[in-house]
Amino acid sequence: MEKDKKIIISGAGIAGLTTAIWLGKNGFNPVIIERTPEIRAYGYIVSLSHKSYQYADELGILKKLCDRGAGIKASCYYNKNSKPMLNLDYQKLFQGLEIVQIMRDELEMVLYEEAKELCEFRFGNSLTNIVQDKKKVHVELKDGTTDTCDVLIGADGLHSVTRSLAFDENEVSNEYLGIFSSAYRLSNVLGITDRFENHMEQSRYMCVYTTGDGDLACVFIWKSDRREAPPQEDRLAMLRKAYEGCPETVQKVIDNCPQDEPIYMDPLIQIRMPSWHKGRVVLLGDAAHCLTLLSGQGASTAFWGGSVLAKSLIENSPEVAFEQYQREIMPVTTKVQPATRNAAKWYIPEKRLNYLSRDFAMSYLPNAFFQKYFRKKYSRA
Ligand SMILES: Cc1cc2nc3c(=O)[nH]c(=O)nc-3n(C[C@H](O)[C@H](O)[C@H](O)COP(=O)(O)OP(=O)(O)OC[C@H]3O[C@@H](n4cnc5c(N)ncnc54)[C@H](O)[C@@H]3O)c2cc1C
Repeated sequence: MEKDKKIIISGAGIAGLTTAIWLGKNGFNPVIIERTPEIRAYGYIVSLSHKSYQYADELGILKKLCDRGAGIKASCYYNKNSKPMLNLDYQKLFQGLEIVQIMRDELEMVLYEEAKELCEFRFGNSLTNIVQDKKKVHVELKDGTTDTCDVLIGADGLHSVTRSLAFDENEVSNEYLGIFSSAYRLSNVLGITDRFENHMEQSRYMCVYTTGDGDLACVFIWKSDRREAPPQEDRLAMLRKAYEGCPETVQKVIDNCPQDEPIYMDPLIQIRMPSWHKGRVVLLGDAAHCLTLLSGQGASTAFWGGSVLAKSLIENSPEVAFEQYQREIMPVTTKVQPATRNAAKWYIPEKRLNYLSRDFAMSYLPNAFFQKYFRKKYSRA
C-alpha cells in the first residue's frame, strides 16, 4: 500500500497499538481513535509467546517487555478446603520456551511509548457511523467530526463498535460460555512473593498473583448465565454474593478489594465470524475472535494478528493483506476456541462427578502431565 494512504485504527489496546507501531515504523501515519481519555488498561497478567514473542523482538521492544516482566516463579492449585493439589515450577515449565509474562497495563505502556511518536492519537472519542464506497471509508465520530480513510481497522475489543457498525448481526456469532468474570488489583494482603495461587471449587474459581511491583492482582470466574455486567457500583456486592461461603483466602481477597478503583466484570463470550473483513474495514484481536481469558492466548494472538496484518499492508493492497492476515490467524483461533470451551469445563465443571475427577487428577496425576499441557499451550500463540 502507498505510504500516503490513510489508515484509521479504532482502539488503542494490544492489537491496535501493535499495528500502529509496525505501520508507523514503515512510513505510514496511522490515526488511532481511543474511547478512554488516556491509555489505561485493567492490570492483569498476559503472556506473549511463540510468534508474538518473535515479532516483539523484531519490533525492538522485547528487552523492555522482559525487563518489566511479572517475575512469577511458581503456581499452586488448592481445592475447596485450601489443600494444595498441584504445584508448578514456572522456571522449569517455561525452560526453552519463548515467552514473556507481563501485566497488561505494563505491556500497553511499552507499546504506547513506542506508538506515540509514530502516529496521531484521538483520545476520548469513538466511531458513531461508517459508510464505505469502493475505495474509501467515511466515518463519523462522537465529537461530531468526520473523517475519510483508505483502511479502517477495528481493534476495539470484545464489544467492538467497528464490528457492530460495519458488519450485519448475522455475520457475527456470540457464544456465551455461561461463565462470569471479574478482576482487580489490590495490595499484597496475602504476603506472597512471585507466585500464582489458584483456588478451585466446583462452580467458581479465583486466582491471585503478584504483579512484579509488590501488589496483587486477582481474577474470578464463576458459573452464571447473566449476559451483562452490572453497573460499577453494584459489582463488589455481586462478587460477594457469588462467593458466599468461599475459602478464607478468597474471602480475604474480596474483603480487600479497593473501593476507589474500577472493578473489571464481564461474561465470557467467544466471537466467531466467517470473515474478518468487509470492503476496506478489517477487525483485529478480540474484536474479530475473542478467545476469552480462559484461553490465556488472547493478548498473544492480538499482538500476532496486528503484526501480520500491518506487515502485509506495508507490502500489499488492502484486499491481499486482509486475506493473508485471515489465512494465517483464523486457523489458530478456530483451534483455540473449542479448546478453551473444554478448558472451561475443567475450571467450572457442570457435574459433580467431573469436579471430583478433576480434583483427583490434579492431586494424583504426575506433575509432568500438567507441565506438558501448559508447555504445549504456550508454544502455539
Ligand atoms: C480478566 C482478564 C484476564 C485475561 N487474562 C489473559 C491472559 O492471561 N493471557 C492472555 O493472553 N489474555 C488474557 N486476557 C485477554 C486479553 O486481555 C485480550 O485478549 C487482549 O487484551 C485483546 O487485545 P485487543 O487489543 O484485541 O483488545 P483490548 O485489549 O480489549 O483493547 C481494546 C481497546 O479498544 C478501546 N475501545 C473499546 N471500545 C472503543 C470504542 N468504541 N472506540 C474506541 N476505542 C474503543 C478500549 O478502550 C481498548 O483500549 C484476559 C482478559 C481479561 C478480561
